[in-house]
Amino acid sequence: MSLIKLSAAELSEKLASGEVSSVEVTKAHLDRIAAVDGDIHAFLHINAKALETAAEVDAKRAAGETLGELAGVPIAIKDVLATLEMPSTAGSKILEGWIPPYDATVVARLRAANLIPLGKTNMDEFAMGSSTEHSAYGPTHNPWDLDRIPGGSGGGSAAAVAAFEAPIALGSDTGGSIRQPAAVTGSVGVKPTYGSVSRYGAIALASSLDQVGPVSRTVLDSALVHDIIGGHDPRDSTSLKDAWPSFAAAARAGAKAESLKGLRIGVVKELDAPGFQSGVTQRFHEALDLLAANGAEIIEVSAPNFEYAVAAYYLILPAEASSNLAKFDSVRFGLRVNPPGGGTVEDVMAATRGVGFGPEVKRRIILGTYALSAGYYDEYYGSAQKVRTLIQRDFNAAFSQVDVLVSPAAPTTAFKLGEKLNDPLAMYINDITTIPANLAGVPGMGLPIGLAPEDGLPVGIQIMAPQRADDRLYTLGATLERLLEEKWGHTLLSQAPDLAPGEMFAATEGAV
Ligand code: GLN
Repeated sequence: MSLIKLSAAELSEKLASGEVSSVEVTKAHLDRIAAVDGDIHAFLHINAKALETAAEVDAKRAAGETLGELAGVPIAIKDVLATLEMPSTAGSKILEGWIPPYDATVVARLRAANLIPLGKTNMDEFAMGSSTEHSAYGPTHNPWDLDRIPGGSGGGSAAAVAAFEAPIALGSDTGGSIRQPAAVTGSVGVKPTYGSVSRYGAIALASSLDQVGPVSRTVLDSALVHDIIGGHDPRDSTSLKDAWPSFAAAARAGAKAESLKGLRIGVVKELDAPGFQSGVTQRFHEALDLLAANGAEIIEVSAPNFEYAVAAYYLILPAEASSNLAKFDSVRFGLRVNPPGGGTVEDVMAATRGVGFGPEVKRRIILGTYALSAGYYDEYYGSAQKVRTLIQRDFNAAFSQVDVLVSPAAPTTAFKLGEKLNDPLAMYINDITTIPANLAGVPGMGLPIGLAPEDGLPVGIQIMAPQRADDRLYTLGATLERLLEEKWGHTLLSQAPDLAPGEMFAATEGAV
């Protein structure tokens, strides 16, 4: 099979046995990017040193050095993460060309584990959005249908993985930006427990919600990446000091599990909503039936305050974002625009921010500044924080009854480019299923469960677990992945349209 179709775990075996070199694997992915990224636009920047780094890893292996499991495997990195030697723009004009003087901790850990950074992936500006259309550098296209969005804000990472441009990628998830793009591109994505993966060097959107996590085509691959990037970081003040189990071991155990007997799976009533696309609901219930047929107990649970999650999020997020984005002041980073005829420092700042930020970023800065202003603080920000506590209590109550919670990962399949661009509320509501987990800091996984019958596009399930129980996502995720593959006789992404330069093939008929 062609190298680009292999998972990171499969590549790792071939690299370890000497069957292929990291240079060959990296070159295969760079060639794929050259062939199809003109159509997809998953990447904003390709790492000019990728092949050189791959050769270094090959040399280490040849010298008999003991290397980690994913050594020599290429990985794509969301442009929200600071990287040495590569621009880090967070999809914004205001950071165009900015090359950070340091690596984000997660990137440093990838390099230390000898993975090969392939490049930086496209995203909604400062991770604000659900479609990657808010990128200042143009949208990313969904590999399943180039006229459709790849989800957001991490559409670049998800599309890169789904289009076989990279076996694995890093994303960031503040309200769903890993799980929702995974759902609409047929890939796997995990938002870890808040504080379990370092945010140092992740350009902040909303610090109390942001979490970095893996994107991949298999559950095991996400687990392998999570094992590398996770764990305590003294440079992140919210970093947990816990020792974490091996998530790869959890995924491997799940893939082998004979039965799900004894597992209590809660279906969140409020997230199994009548307004969702019918094919999404249908595939979700088929997945539940499959889990039940294999011994899991399916229990309906209610989380009454989830109804207010999106509203609370769109006060808390803009409030934190307006503060985090104050540092883009034309003095310290990136762009500087001098107003015609000169002016004060404030004039330069205003001109720079006026040109450097896109409309969605401006909208949220204004919203957040307003929500935090004297006289409104208690009414808006204070109320939203109270709702956040109620949502956390809903999770606690639910997890006293069940081991994991599930819902569709997104209310619809990928929508058309442009369809929701000028309707912020329609865009915001896309994250109705994913936002509660961010507000409560619990981990969540998006996992493909089939194609919607009405449009042939991928549908995802979301699995959520209590804080610190990320291993449950990997165990159950790997079991479900195996059960689905046994049922279909193939993987979901093997049904993805083949992309060739300037040429698109329709998805295989009668798929999944
Ligand atoms: N779509 C959500 C938003 O626009 C989530 C973004 C994210 O997770 N970074 O805020």
